[in-house]
Amino acid sequence: MLKKVLIANRGEIALRIIRACKDLKISTVAIHSTADTNSMHVRMADESVCIGPPKAGDSYLAIPNIIAACEISGADAVHPGYGFLSENPKFAQVLSDHKITYIGPSAKHIELMGDKVTAKKTMQNLGVPCVPGSNGVIKNFEEASEVAVKIGFPLIVKASAGGGGKGMKLVLNNSSLESAFKSAKKEAEAAFGNDEVYIEKYLTNPKHIEIQIIGDGKGNAVHLAERDCSIQRRHQKILEEAPSTILSNNERSDIGKICVNAISKLKYSGVGTIEFLYSNNEFYFIEMNTRIQVEHPITEEIFGIDLIKEQLKISSNYPLSFKQEDLQIKGHAIECRINAEKIPEFSASPGKIDTYHAPGGLGVRIDSALYAGYIVPPYYDSLICKLIIHGENRQEAIQRLERALSELIIDGISTTTEIFNIILKNRNFIDGSYDISWLENLLDEQKKVKKN
Ligand code: ADP
Repeated sequence: MLKKVLIANRGEIALRIIRACKDLKISTVAIHSTADTNSMHVRMADESVCIGPPKAGDSYLAIPNIIAACEISGADAVHPGYGFLSENPKFAQVLSDHKITYIGPSAKHIELMGDKVTAKKTMQNLGVPCVPGSNGVIKNFEEASEVAVKIGFPLIVKASAGGGGKGMKLVLNNSSLESAFKSAKKEAEAAFGNDEVYIEKYLTNPKHIEIQIIGDGKGNAVHLAERDCSIQRRHQKILEEAPSTILSNNERSDIGKICVNAISKLKYSGVGTIEFLYSNNEFYFIEMNTRIQVEHPITEEIFGIDLIKEQLKISSNYPLSFKQEDLQIKGHAIECRINAEKIPEFSASPGKIDTYHAPGGLGVRIDSALYAGYIVPPYYDSLICKLIIHGENRQEAIQRLERALSELIIDGISTTTEIFNIILKNRNFIDGSYDISWLENLLDEQKKVKKN
């Protein structure tokens, strides 16, 4: 087993990883910027190293500083969490060059899936169904027009290096194709330093359904069913649930087998998520994330499995602790992402937390690094708290979530908590009939009602 893990992250995910390490009796090293000196992950780790000033580029993204922290602390492995360097093949490679274990897949697999065009081609060749679109990167407007004629409108221009919904442009007709193509390239260059874009058929009203997989790097793999992440705003997930209300057992098993076959053939190592859009009973691959995801706890809740522990075990060369036939879904789980943002604008709302009270009871889990007196810094992601609910069935999970939300107190700053009360009361949510545009439409309607 690994002896000492350095966590190259902050906030709730750093704390989450520290907990899994402690359960396995692995020592932990927190790294932090000067803005995070008083953070919970620093307090809870066995050791900590300050790696730079607040700006992420000078601290959490500074590879030489992190390598130095490994050397100082004697860590034999690094867990990247999500965000920051978690999908950076160079980071995985540099660690491996320094004989430090990267807790995640190989640099080769991170690179393969990090480029969405290559990822799509790879998955297509492995028999995974994909969204129809361009056969690779679109070089110029003429090529974009040719693809548009072939697949028709609406279509979506997407950044090959994309992430977080950036560099994505919806095109409804020919007249806006050129400007969308140019602005997607510009946005992609600014966000990722890579202006390559590709085109996909824009699927109207699909669901976002993703499959959790784990491989041991030797060709053994399992899937842990799906998460429905269709409740989004600006292509960003807000609430996720598992299992999806819409899939039949046969559909779940069929898409699971397709994913397991693909990652077994790749000899993929570690956890990963294969993301699909789901429309008219068909799955369309959009991308693969080669890391732990924000919403992983809902899968843990329905299977009773600690995914971070599994990552640590795989990186210690242990075989998978379970086989596909051991994995049975139990009940239903929902996660709410609570952000330090002011609604309805969703503008950042950093500052001091005056009062903090976390809900509790059976089936209520909070993954958060908050405490009363903590100052949410303005430099990083606005996610401050994940409320994760498990129930025997969906109805019980919804009721429990309503109750837990009523107990939660985060005073001092604005948060997005109220949005979940709006979602939970809506009939479409209650009957599960929502798609990726549903929340955005609901918020637009509410704005109009308020204006009138
Ligand atoms: P990112 O990596 O930037 O998050 P994804 O490819 O994962 O980008 O897509 C994020 C979201 O954007 C999806 O969940 C979906 O809401 C929307 N989206 C992406 N591709 C399409 C498409 N072809 N048709 C319709 N919506 C899409």
